[in-house]
Amino acid sequence: MDKYRIKPGKKLDLSKWDPNDKSIFPMGKKVGKDHLKQLNNELETLQELLYAEGKHKVLIVLQAMDTGGKDGTIRHVFEGVNPQGVKVSSFKAPTREELAHDYLWRVHKHTPGKGEIVIFNRSHYEDVLVVRVHDLVPKEVWSKRYEHIAAFEKTLADEGTTILKFYLHINRDEQKERLQARLDKPEKIWKFSLGDLEERKLWDQYIAAFEDALGKTSTEASPWYVIPANRKWYRNLVISSIIIDKLKSLNMSYPEAEDDLSGVVIE
Ligand code: AMP
Ligand code: MG
Repeated sequence: MDKYRIKPGKKLDLSKWDPNDKSIFPMGKKVGKDHLKQLNNELETLQELLYAEGKHKVLIVLQAMDTGGKDGTIRHVFEGVNPQGVKVSSFKAPTREELAHDYLWRVHKHTPGKGEIVIFNRSHYEDVLVVRVHDLVPKEVWSKRYEHIAAFEKTLADEGTTILKFYLHINRDEQKERLQARLDKPEKIWKFSLGDLEERKLWDQYIAAFEDALGKTSTEASPWYVIPANRKWYRNLVISSIIIDKLKSLNMSYPEAEDDLSGVVIE
């Protein structure tokens, strides 16, 4: 899975990353979907252990272009996990109160506590993505944020948070198909907004903003992964596998009972 990790200190060129890649799971969609069920079970067990042990905090950040698959990833990768102990925080356009504070204010309070997994559906990265592309603040302001973000995440990591960040990499043609599908299907049309078409025109500016954001903030303790995401089943397998590998590396164990239970008989 390391092939999808952005190595620290390297400039990122997303045109070199294939959104159709399926080299790690070449099995195809049908077998791939079956395999995900096994991974779902494994993740469920690990999450249970994380919750019981109550020691580690896990933060998962999802970012993507519109239609990139953030919602679908949450639905499929976390299928079956116990909702107690897993939270999703979705970041929309900031409220007036949020705008009156620094951009990390609304984010910090949603970070995970001990035993928790928190999934960020969008995140503080919007403050160097949409904010940059639309000039919502001047360049002198947003250009300093990469350093703040790196420092913020270092603080979380130093204080015991395990961080994984996933960029769901689709191409422009795939976005066109997915937008069309939203338009065509009654059960998807609620997700379509005319604004998405305006954002689509800014594709290249978004790619440039993503390249800077991901390239400047991928560290050993807080890595970014570029996930090939044109194929949803493949995207799910890769993300699930990376999370499982990470959780296994924490060497967790179930805690002992607090009381001395030797000789206990239940009447
Ligand atoms: P969705 O995730 O499709 O529900 O859309 C949420 C919207 O909120 C997107 O258009 C984001 O670009 C926008 N958004 C999220 N965070 C920010 C932010 N910090 N500043 C401005 N817009 C944001
Ligand atoms: Mg949307």
